[in-house]
Amino acid sequence: MSNASNAELPKSVDPYRLAEQTSTLEGIIPISGLGRFREAVLGFSDGAACRVKLSFYMDSERRRIVSGELEAPVDLECQRCMGAMGATLVSRFTLGLVTSDEQAQQLPKELEPFLTDDFTADLWSMVEDELLLVLPPFPLHDRNDCPAREDLEAYEPDSSAAEPVRKSGENPFSVLADLKKKKH
Ligand SMILES: [Zn+2]
Repeated sequence: MSNASNAELPKSVDPYRLAEQTSTLEGIIPISGLGRFREAVLGFSDGAACRVKLSFYMDSERRRIVSGELEAPVDLECQRCMGAMGATLVSRFTLGLVTSDEQAQQLPKELEPFLTDDFTADLWSMVEDELLLVLPPFPLHDRNDCPAREDLEAYEPDSSAAEPVRKSGENPFSVLADLKKKKH
């Protein structure tokens, strides 16, 4: 396992077989290889990669599960100064493998469905979806680091005003994630 986590995560796998064998995949995905996500951020360093760890297993109900952790260093556009700000996007998720909408409806609500065709899954696309879900909608520098803070202070002399910076780890999209399940 010495360098395993520095290898590229396989793109196409049979997630059902991996779950039945209780497997863990660890690797990286170059951010340049994620077309939709790449367009959604301001930028990223040359060679920047999302680190991924995925665990495939069966739960006590014999559902096939993939749970994962992601970490991706990117540049976002601060919505106060419109300058670049470095951020590390982090996501943790647990998905139930399904091959149909009917199966998706039957998952317990704590599991989001991961819909795959014919027992093959595109892991890069799945990771990309999870990254897009944790992208902050309104990124802001910490107030003291923001080049626009002097403008801000001119308008808001009370520096104890509520800090609008979103703390990392919070998931502003939990509502969207709930909607994604299409539950009734
Ligand atoms: Zn700023």
